[in-house]
Amino acid sequence: MYESVIGLEVHVQLNTATKLFCGCSTEFGSQPNSQACEICLGLPGCLPVLNQKAFVYALKVAMALGCRIREFTKFDRKNYFYPDLPKNYQISQYDLPLAEEGFLDIDINGRSKRVNIKRVHLEEDAGKLIHSQGSSLVDLNRTGIPLLEIVSSPDINSSQEAYEYLNSLKQIIQYLGVSSCDMEKGILRCDANISIKKKEDSKLGTKTELKNMNSFRGVRDALDFEIKRQLKLLESKESIAQETRLWDEEKQMTYPMRTKEEAQDYRYFPEPDLPPFTIDSKMQEEIRKTIPELPQQKMKRFREDWGVPAGRANILASSIELADFSEKCFNLYAKAENITNWICGPLLSEMNNRKQDINQINITPKNFVDLIIFFDQGKLSNLNTKNALAAMIDSGKEPGIIIQEKNLSQISDSVKLDEIVSQVIKDNPKSVNDYLQGKENAVMFLVGQVMRKSKSKANPKMVREILLKKLKKA
Ligand SMILES: [Zn+2]
Repeated sequence: MYESVIGLEVHVQLNTATKLFCGCSTEFGSQPNSQACEICLGLPGCLPVLNQKAFVYALKVAMALGCRIREFTKFDRKNYFYPDLPKNYQISQYDLPLAEEGFLDIDINGRSKRVNIKRVHLEEDAGKLIHSQGSSLVDLNRTGIPLLEIVSSPDINSSQEAYEYLNSLKQIIQYLGVSSCDMEKGILRCDANISIKKKEDSKLGTKTELKNMNSFRGVRDALDFEIKRQLKLLESKESIAQETRLWDEEKQMTYPMRTKEEAQDYRYFPEPDLPPFTIDSKMQEEIRKTIPELPQQKMKRFREDWGVPAGRANILASSIELADFSEKCFNLYAKAENITNWICGPLLSEMNNRKQDINQINITPKNFVDLIIFFDQGKLSNLNTKNALAAMIDSGKEPGIIIQEKNLSQISDSVKLDEIVSQVIKDNPKSVNDYLQGKENAVMFLVGQVMRKSKSKANPKMVREILLKKLKKA
């Protein structure tokens, strides 16, 4: 039995207005090289100054991941030459990272698995090379943008676990409001180390590093491909090269890029232009106080306090905004189960159709809850509740007004229903006959006809009762 051993290295761009060591804007999409100063370029005589916000953001993430925060931390120079790095070094953290020894609990088919986090540190991004028409251009706008590097222990054993790890990590960081974590836009980047070994072996196999994945699905697919490739080599007794491989999304395969440098090749040394930093317990406490309730705790509370089923609690807690919306609704109307059903079904489907998230969609918790109350009181049919919801989002109006304007009120008046049912029985002698011959399904058809005739306004439960009574008499 073979087992895959996976470690993930995630880089997250922190959403500060300015760069990590200078005042240049971090705004995306500006003219190339319009946001690069002498500090970005590392010109002689200029001094970097640490962005306090980036530092606090980094600490928040480290704390949310249960890391031990280092009281004394420093920055180091990582030396290498690359055309997108005019300084010939990157300011990073080497032997005294900001934080270490954290963890992330992920959910794998209903059971919880702990993935340890080795370290969390801050570093600056490099520039970007643009290759076109036989020449290469460099854009330094990205140089110096704050990146948080989060390195997991090799505790991940499948592509699915890697996928869940990334999702949970993204959720936590989004809850903290320090990054959008959008992988398609390169705000979150992920490299994966993977090796294969026999389950009983304690020695790790030769690992390869995978790069160039630009979605969580891409990470999963690249790992799946690499697991198969390494297994094949092992089984035919061929050796696996320690190398960096790039994922080709189109061809769905990895191919070798270069052999991996060892740490000593980078000649790390302490950054002489930045003093070391102390993070005392008072500062830690101040920051800790600003950390909101995180997804795991939120899910637990939704389950325990409001009785929301586990699967549904996951959905409601998937973003802090949706969780807040749901909780506001629960506080307005204690039937959490009904609210959960209407959020996870019709509301999410409206959001999907409109490509809007809960912040963008035009509905307040109060109006949403009032609509559900109309439904629960039998004043609206299921279909017309959905129709009213769409109309409310279109107009921003209250449900009561929409129901009046669109004349959607459910008909629960037995005299009125009796009339419609009688008409339907008269119009459909064949179905009536089918029913009397023992075809139970014919009732469904007749109820459908009544609903159609009433423009979905008839109370379906009452319709069924009246219909069955009348058919017995027939
Ligand atoms: Zn700058």
